[in-house]
Amino acid sequence: MSGWTLGIETTAHTLSFGLVDAEGVPYPAASDTLRPDEGGIHPREAADHHKDVAKALFEQSLEQQNLTPADISAVAYSQGPGLGPCLRVGAAIARGLATRMNVPLIGVNHCVAHIEIGRQQCGCDDPVLLYVSGGNTQVIARLNGRYRVLGETLDIGIGNMLDKFARAQGIPFPGGPVIEQKARAYLDANPNPSMEGLQLPYAVRGMDLAFSGLMTAAQRLIEQGASLEAVCWSLQEHAFASCVEVAERAMAHTGKAELLLGGGVACNQRLRTMCEEMAKDRDGQSFAPPRMYCIDNGTMIALLGFIELRHRTTPLSESGIDQYLRTDQTPIAWS
Ligand code: AMP
Ligand code: MG
Repeated sequence: MSGWTLGIETTAHTLSFGLVDAEGVPYPAASDTLRPDEGGIHPREAADHHKDVAKALFEQSLEQQNLTPADISAVAYSQGPGLGPCLRVGAAIARGLATRMNVPLIGVNHCVAHIEIGRQQCGCDDPVLLYVSGGNTQVIARLNGRYRVLGETLDIGIGNMLDKFARAQGIPFPGGPVIEQKARAYLDANPNPSMEGLQLPYAVRGMDLAFSGLMTAAQRLIEQGASLEAVCWSLQEHAFASCVEVAERAMAHTGKAELLLGGGVACNQRLRTMCEEMAKDRDGQSFAPPRMYCIDNGTMIALLGFIELRHRTTPLSESGIDQYLRTDQTPIAWS
């Protein structure tokens, strides 16, 4: 059973251990997410959480596949981008395990891992990626050996925007799924809804996006007496339409026919449907991985580690982290 690659994900509030086998086949991760009672995530508290649960979660990830540490042949970890204290815990765990098990270590790019698990799961080849997560919102495509960021948020990530709006309404983290439910309830009650009185600013700037003005305006609608369900619906429609517009322009510019969703917000069925409709209009196709591989997970880190280990390893002396690692900083040495 040897030859497995372990992946460790700790970029933000989730600690996750995932595995791929000797052929690179992925298996569901063992994950634990810090959900603060109030307020956003505090990087130090998240890092402490990761430290506290690491041992039990690592053991659980092995037990899930009936493995022992002797079956692990390599350890991959998220090198960035993310919250410094959280990343450092992951890197320390990875160094410790790789040293103890005497196997190669590899630090990988978290954003690129979202792309590769999506390609692997969906069987698409050369997609434009719409990466919509808590901290990141980017439209990415592979050009000349790198995943290039063609457009991105100029302020906060779309997931953070949804979470912050939700928090202001007393909805705990993660707010995105609750907003989705409320928007759906609004549609069930209003099958032919109108935007009258529910308009929000629509912030597409060239290929870039912005979300904080949208959040403030949505809050103002609530203060003016609009129902929470109605505003959730409008907020989703506006925020997702802006992402889909940039993704469509990226497909047009690059001539690519595939769209791939990634990141936690890609769990949203309304966003998935909007992407499918846009891609179909262009005679293309939109793909979304299973939800457990949209959210942050160790399996995608294991998979990218497995792919990259054919080309490089990370020596202990270079096994630090990079909070600001960019998607286009990582050379793509694989097909
Ligand atoms: P990530 O940063 O990739 O781990 O994803 C976490 C983010 O995804 C949080 O901001 C969540 O609110 C968001 N999220 C998760 N599920 C959904 C959903 N069904 N609709 C919208 N956002 C979601
Ligand atoms: Mg992510």
